[in-house]
Amino acid sequence: MTEPNAIDAAADEAVTLTSELIRIDTTNTGDPATLTGEREAAEYVAAKLTEVGYEITYVESGGANRHNVIARLPGADPDRGALLVHGHLDVVPADPAEWSVHPFSGAVQDGYVWGRGAVDMKDMLGMSLALARHYKREGIVPPRDLIFAFLADEEAGGKYGAQWLVDNRPDLFAGATEAISEVGGFSVTLRDNVRAYLVETAEKGIRWMTLRVRGTAGHGSMLHHDNAVTTLSEAVAKLGNHRFPLVLSDSVREFLAGVTEITGWDFPEDDLDGAVAKLGNISRMIGATLRDTANPTMLDAGYKANVIPSTAEAAVDCRILPGRVEAFDRELDELLGPDIEREWMELPPVETTFDGALVDAMSASVLAEDPNARTLPYMLSGGTDAKSFQRLGIRNFGFAPLKLPADLDFSALFHGVDERVPVDALRFGTRVLDRFFRSC
Ligand SMILES: [Zn+2]
Repeated sequence: MTEPNAIDAAADEAVTLTSELIRIDTTNTGDPATLTGEREAAEYVAAKLTEVGYEITYVESGGANRHNVIARLPGADPDRGALLVHGHLDVVPADPAEWSVHPFSGAVQDGYVWGRGAVDMKDMLGMSLALARHYKREGIVPPRDLIFAFLADEEAGGKYGAQWLVDNRPDLFAGATEAISEVGGFSVTLRDNVRAYLVETAEKGIRWMTLRVRGTAGHGSMLHHDNAVTTLSEAVAKLGNHRFPLVLSDSVREFLAGVTEITGWDFPEDDLDGAVAKLGNISRMIGATLRDTANPTMLDAGYKANVIPSTAEAAVDCRILPGRVEAFDRELDELLGPDIEREWMELPPVETTFDGALVDAMSASVLAEDPNARTLPYMLSGGTDAKSFQRLGIRNFGFAPLKLPADLDFSALFHGVDERVPVDALRFGTRVLDRFFRSC
C-alpha cells in the first residue's frame, strides 16, 4: 500500500493528533451551556484539514453553539457510493481526582496515550485525520469518495450532531452507502496469540422510559390505600428483577459461532449466560445482547416525610434487540398493568449483515497487519451515531481497528477512569485503515 516510510509518518501523526485532541476538554454534560471545548476541537480539526488543501464544510448546528466539520476526498470512481468515516468530538465528564494522570493531559507515557476520549473516540479521530491529511498531501486517490465527518454531541444522543445533520444537511452525506465509526475493530485475544477483531454490525435500540403513577395525596399519619410511591416502587422492583427471554439475533449467533470455531467452546442455549461468561471482560457487553434489558436508573417522588405525594416517577433505561419492540411492550403490559403511565425517548436498533466487498476489505486489511487475526461481527449493547445515519439508508459498521494487549480490559475503559489507548495500537490501526481506505 502506502510506502513504509510515509505510512509510518502518518501513524506517528495519528498518535500526536490523538494526544492533542484529548488536551482539548470537550466534556459534554448534556447541558449546552457547560460546553466550551467542542468549538475549539472543531476549529482544530478544520485547521488541520484546510492546511493540507481540503475545502471543508463547517456547520454550527441548531444555532446552539455546537460544531461539526465535514470534508470529502474525491475517489477514482465517482459512480460508486461514498464511504462515510465519522466520529464524535465530545467526551463524557472525568474527575481528575480519580485518575493517575490528568484526564485532559493527553500524556504519552508507558506506551499509552492517556486521557478522556482515548478510546471513545479521539483515537479514531486521530487515525482518520492523520490519513485524510496524508492522502491529500501525497495526492493519493482512494477508489471511492471518502467523507470525513467530525461531529458534535454524540454523548448526549447526537441531537445537535449526527441527528441534526441528518435532518437538516443530508446533502453533506449525498451518495454515501456505507459508514464506519466507533466501538468495533478492536481485538480480543481468544487463544494464545489468536485475536478476534470485533466489527460492530448491530446495536440494540435505546428506549428510555419514564414511569408515572398518579395516586391520592394525603397525610402521612393516616390510613391510606392509594399511595403513588408504593405503587411505583412495586412496579420498579418488578421491572428491575424481570428477566426478558433469550433471543439470539443473527449477529450474536454469528459471533458465537465464530468464537466456537476459534476456541472449541460450546454455547448451549440452555446455559448461554454461563457459557458467555467464559469470554472474560467482554462478557458484560456480549451478555447484554442476549436479551432485552430494563434497568431502573432514577426515582423521583415527594417533598416532605409526612406528606403522601399525588405522583411518583421513575426512569428506566431499556435496551431492545432488533425486531423486539412489540413483544417488549406486550411484556411490559403484563408486568405493569394499565394504570402506570409510560413515556418514551426512543432511538432504533441498527443491524446489517457481515458480508460483501466492504467486509472483505476490512478482514483483508486486518489480516495483512496481523496474520493471527479473525474478524467477527458483534452487536453493541449501547448506541452510537450509526442510529442517525441509518435513517439515510447507510449501512453502518463499528470499525476503529486496534490491536490490544491480551490482558487489557478494553470495555472498562469506555467512560472509565484512566481511559488510555496503546501507542502501538494507534499505529497498527492507522496502517489497517490505510489499507482499508485504499481497497474499499
Ligand atoms: Zn463514543
